[in-house]
Amino acid sequence: EKNGRVGGNESRIHVFVRLRPMAKKEKEAGSRCCVKIVNKKDVYLTEFANENDYLRLKRLRGRHFSFDASFPDSTTQHEVYSTTTAELVEAVLQGQNGSVFCYGATGAGKTYTMLGTLENPGVMVLAIKDLFTNIRHRSFDGNHAVHLSYLEVYNETIRDLLSPGRPLVLREDKQGIVAAGITQYSAYSADEVMALLQRGNQNRTTEPTRANETSSRSHAILQVVVEYQVKDASMNIINRVGKLSLIDLAGSERALATDQRTLRSLEGANINRSLLALSSCINALVEGKKHIPYRNSKLTQLLKDSLGGACNTVMIANISPSNLSFGETQNTLHWAHRAK
Ligand code: ADP
Ligand code: MG
Repeated sequence: EKNGRVGGNESRIHVFVRLRPMAKKEKEAGSRCCVKIVNKKDVYLTEFANENDYLRLKRLRGRHFSFDASFPDSTTQHEVYSTTTAELVEAVLQGQNGSVFCYGATGAGKTYTMLGTLENPGVMVLAIKDLFTNIRHRSFDGNHAVHLSYLEVYNETIRDLLSPGRPLVLREDKQGIVAAGITQYSAYSADEVMALLQRGNQNRTTEPTRANETSSRSHAILQVVVEYQVKDASMNIINRVGKLSLIDLAGSERALATDQRTLRSLEGANINRSLLALSSCINALVEGKKHIPYRNSKLTQLLKDSLGGACNTVMIANISPSNLSFGETQNTLHWAHRAK
């Protein structure tokens, strides 16, 4: 057993928390660390600086959370990848679907975790690297193909990040719901993919009011489809397709502030419909409901075949250590806790 990922409910969501290091700006603003991670699992929220007696906080309701694993700020990109996503890459090579989400407030470390930097590539790049390594070590009788697409959902509009242009329309075909006309990039190496994703990320919609920042309201979705052929016991050739979706979600701050309102007033307030719809789907899955409301947003429609059912679903909640983000961190931890 690894990460408690064996047996029981097939569609359980695996939930992780990643704490990022204190930023220079936060230090300069005189912030204190308000998060403590113990035993690579338990997260304690404390308003006190240098809290040594954190264990007594266990008694304080709403301040102690436990996850499949929690990553302290010293955790490497590789450790995050291998604990959260490596098994999904293996499952995709068995013909299954899976998805990995990064959730959290703007600035909490979602894009760093998913995309990373050239020196420290993130989950998206490490997953693709691993995928190519595993394919090379396996005999697919030379018959396999890897296709990538990288798209954005912004204001319920879908855009191709690899070939920006007109918004894309969702269509239902034999393979499920697809964005019609999306660029399907045939990839051969991981280095090539990093360059491609960096370029794609620069195409993400920026908000008019924060022109130099990548938008906090756009979801970036990398989908990797692996097709290959295997022979069964009677030497018949079988086609297999597996799909991995890696999602850098929009900032959770606005959605959380209005979680209780009705969808209608949310639309008026221009709140992120896709993020709320994702929450509803996850809650329905966790509660074991029969009906999962995938149709409520573009994001959930796109991920219908990769979320729930027999799919492997991973959530990485990103948090800042600074007491200046205490409220957002608490909201993120509550949200992640509900997804377990
Ligand atoms: P988000 O995408 O959630 O808005 P970012 O990933 O852009 O947040 O992170 C905000 C800043 O913090 C960036 O400058 C990023 O490089 C840095 N950062 C985030 N996580 C880490 C980490 N684990 N280690 C080092 N720097 C990080
Ligand atoms: Mg980001």
